[in-house]
Amino acid sequence: MNTKIITNADKINAKQLKRATEIITKLQNELREYIERGHGPFLAAVYSGDKLIAKCANTVVMDDCSNHHAEINVIRMAQSELKTYDLAPKNLDLYITAEPCMMCIGAIMWSGIKNVYYGVPSKVVEKITGFDEGFKPNWLKEFQKRGINVYGNIETELGEDVLKQYVESKHIVYKPSR
Ligand SMILES: [Zn+2]
Repeated sequence: MNTKIITNADKINAKQLKRATEIITKLQNELREYIERGHGPFLAAVYSGDKLIAKCANTVVMDDCSNHHAEINVIRMAQSELKTYDLAPKNLDLYITAEPCMMCIGAIMWSGIKNVYYGVPSKVVEKITGFDEGFKPNWLKEFQKRGINVYGNIETELGEDVLKQYVESKHIVYKPSR
């Protein structure tokens, strides 16, 4: 059974949420293939309505770069594709297989993305994988202040399965040594 949707929006737009569920389901299934090709276990996509603008998985290990999270990769790709540092006038949606970490929250905030939809919440990601998602006090409220709608916990069960599979198949849980 799926967890209740988390949002900072005044109301849930049923049509948007239905589309988000379809897109995130598709991303979770594609993510299994990305993992097999050496990507980290997170996938993100930027859409304009039904049109895909950019899609990218986490490439931290293959790029030897700690900030190459899926969200940062896909925002960079979308801005390059659309030739702008400000996506706001384009009214774009960001779909992510899991809740953004503290670094990606900053990246999303400066990008001009208008709507964020995510799958597995950070607490569950941390519990399953051991990744550190950082600290994010009141991020939903901070996004709300800036006119960014967030909808989370979409198709969490499927997302949890993908993460469990990542860990069980002994893929690397990359993080700084402490
Ligand atoms: Zn991140």
